[in-house]
Amino acid sequence: METDAYIALGSNLGDRELNLLRAVAEIGKLPESKVSALSPFYETSPVGVTNQPHFFNAVLRLATKLSPHDLLTRLQHIENDVFQRTRNIRWGARTMDLDLLLYGSEVIDGPELTLPHPRLAERRFVLQPLHDIAPDLVHPVLGRSVAELLVALKSAESVVKI
Ligand code: ADP
Ligand code: MG
Repeated sequence: METDAYIALGSNLGDRELNLLRAVAEIGKLPESKVSALSPFYETSPVGVTNQPHFFNAVLRLATKLSPHDLLTRLQHIENDVFQRTRNIRWGARTMDLDLLLYGSEVIDGPELTLPHPRLAERRFVLQPLHDIAPDLVHPVLGRSVAELLVALKSAESVVKI
């Protein structure tokens, strides 16, 4: 059975636009999976650890037969092997961060994987690109659409389409 998964991409080191393009290409090579939508790219101000370069962010939809855990493991391999991601500061600078936002309407609260992604509804740099490709998608826990979540968002972080 094929499921629509939504993946957030972020990069703030190196050639950020090229990094996003490479990540999309790598995700597109995953088995039993097809990229079926891709948002515009955004330049966004860092949240949390703010003394670091601005990010480029995007969201894609993947129609996949991989399980949620298998998909997360493969995304982590892309972060580590393709981008040689070395970083230890949480929310710090990184060549590539791949977060699994949603996997169908699955709700998981495990040690390695939480679905939907716990900070999804607080982050404009995630909600804005998600809204571009899936405005009517309903958050399975909050019971509100992406469009409603975006309107309700208070944060003033800058998110600019490139
Ligand atoms: P962050 O993205 O919060 O800056 P990391 O990318 O290093 O930090 O992720 C930290 C951990 O979050 C990973 O080890 C992963 O197992 C866990 N995790 C839990 N749920 C998710 C999810 N939905 N998507 C991505 N990682 C997740
Ligand atoms: Mg991450």
